Amino acid sequence: MTRYTLAVLPGDGIGPEVTAEALKVLRATAELFGYRIDAQEYAVGAAGVAEAGDSLPERTRCAVTQADAVLLGAVGDPALAAAEGKRRPEAGLLALRKLLGAYANLRPVRVHPSLAHASPLRPERLAGVDLLIVRELTGGLYYGEPRALGRESAVNTLRYTVREIERVARVAFQAAVERRGSLTSVDKANVLEVSQLWRATVTRIGAEEFPAVTLEHLYVDFAAMRLVAEPARIDVLLTENLFGDILSDEAAVLTGSLGLLPSASLGDGPGLFEPVHGSAPDIAGRGVANPIGAILSAAMLLRYGLELPEAADSVEQAVTAALAAGRRSADIAREGEPVLGTRAVGDEIARLVLLGKGRTVPELR
Ligand code: NAD
Repeated sequence: MTRYTLAVLPGDGIGPEVTAEALKVLRATAELFGYRIDAQEYAVGAAGVAEAGDSLPERTRCAVTQADAVLLGAVGDPALAAAEGKRRPEAGLLALRKLLGAYANLRPVRVHPSLAHASPLRPERLAGVDLLIVRELTGGLYYGEPRALGRESAVNTLRYTVREIERVARVAFQAAVERRGSLTSVDKANVLEVSQLWRATVTRIGAEEFPAVTLEHLYVDFAAMRLVAEPARIDVLLTENLFGDILSDEAAVLTGSLGLLPSASLGDGPGLFEPVHGSAPDIAGRGVANPIGAILSAAMLLRYGLELPEAADSVEQAVTAALAAGRRSADIAREGEPVLGTRAVGDEIARLVLLGKGRTVPELR
């Protein structure tokens, strides 16, 4: 029986609550598909500060580099809002991404037809929305040197190397091959030299290595409009760090709740899989958080981290079936609909995974 080692970092706030449900669903897939998961928990964020005075303790560092994949909940604690250096919870997350060499951030955005009411867009604009944003995560303006803040002026540097563009482009092209075969690369090549290099490099990688993928280039301002005007036209959207930060949050709004969105950060080491939301201190400890972002992150872990696409499909199908049957947490329930807690949503999705194909779930009354 194949065994996989997972480092599980529940983190803070609702992190442990949603991570427990993601693990429950992973264990259900292991039972269904006949493999074994060895999952050990390690501290990160405020939990790391409490354990070892460090938001990414040494014990956690060792474990993540040796794991097959890393599942993370969320970090952040209002009590440590003024903390600095290693004691700042969010510093642990940045250090973790750096340690894992995670240069490609993948954020799928799928609008479930049964949740169209939760989105600020009109339902007809949302039909068929199923896109993947691939954001470069370790380069660009956020890391470029020199950087300085003076009294009369400030400077940041936008720099990308060909190698940095090539490696993230390959991740995006490969994702397009496995999806609907279309890649939209976003830049500002009419103004920025870095974008001209980006466009030329993406075009070359496409022609040389992925000729079957249809490639288009959009300027970032037009891409921002297309995301709300015609989001269903996008399959895979590839872009650099700053543009990706903004566009992925814009795309997140389409679904109607932060609690639904998963992410994966891939690079040289084990992949890091985490929901997009934070530690949500306003609802932590009440058992009401939506675990679907974490559960869909577990599906990404199966697909990209362990290369188990059938198991990943089974989780995604179970989520769709649960939502369609009205199994919803408070953030996405309609007025008057029954509301499930975090555990009940996780139980239901794990049960649907185990039911395997041909599942039907009666409407909740
Ligand atoms: P947040 O994502 O934690 O919460 C924003 C809002 O969305 C809150 O009202 C919250 O209740 C709601 N929400 C979030 N996840 C939900 C879920 N699964 N189900 C139902 N509702 C959900 O963002 P914030 O309030 O700006 O930040 C809180 C803390 O989290 C801060 O310390 C911040 O630094 C940290 N943070 C961490 C991450 C991460 O770990 N990747 C990301 C964002 C923010």
